Amino acid sequence: MARYTGPSCRLCRREGQKLFLKGERCYSGKCALEKRAYAPGQHGQNRKKSSEYGLQLREKQKAKRFYGLQETQFRNLFAKAAAKSGITGENLLILLETRLDNVVFRMGLASSRKEARQLVTHGHFTLNGKKADIPSMQVKAGDVIAVKEKSTSSPKFKEIKEMTISTPEWVSIDTQKLEGKVLAMPTRSQIDTPVTEHLIVELYSK
Ligand code: SF4
Repeated sequence: MARYTGPSCRLCRREGQKLFLKGERCYSGKCALEKRAYAPGQHGQNRKKSSEYGLQLREKQKAKRFYGLQETQFRNLFAKAAAKSGITGENLLILLETRLDNVVFRMGLASSRKEARQLVTHGHFTLNGKKADIPSMQVKAGDVIAVKEKSTSSPKFKEIKEMTISTPEWVSIDTQKLEGKVLAMPTRSQIDTPVTEHLIVELYSK
């Protein structure tokens, strides 16, 4: 699967919003958006007002980049969201939130979604006791995600054992056991992703 390998901060500057793609750096004064709060490129500082289509497109790009998905993956997930009963935009956000890589990040077992995806791909986690190395796997209420026994001695996870982690209310983490649980499926109000999802629905409905 092709993936974006360019500078992460450029994506935030393009969206004019922090997408938290680089772990701790995003919370420090080193954040590129805090230093240069305008779009990248030669004309970044004199961007024109967007059209309706432009706004919808930017919202989709923002969501895609926030969760680190490629266009095809995002579109497929949208199709899945539209096929479910309920509000498509909310369904989409819930499907994005409950991807395995995002849940690992939300449990505090990785400092960014990018790192979470890498750790998952490298086989450091189990889902309900079974190997889980596909970042796009969907989790459900009651699922238990744990760091593989073999990986618990790595410096990364040893460090986590010393940490106090605050998680969204729909997941929990036991840092000593390096094990987290999905307590419930997230509701829209529990998802703090800075996205106006109805604009994405409008874009794909054209
Ligand atoms: Fe975005 Fe983080 Fe880079 Fe800031 S440091 S621009 S939030 S990726």
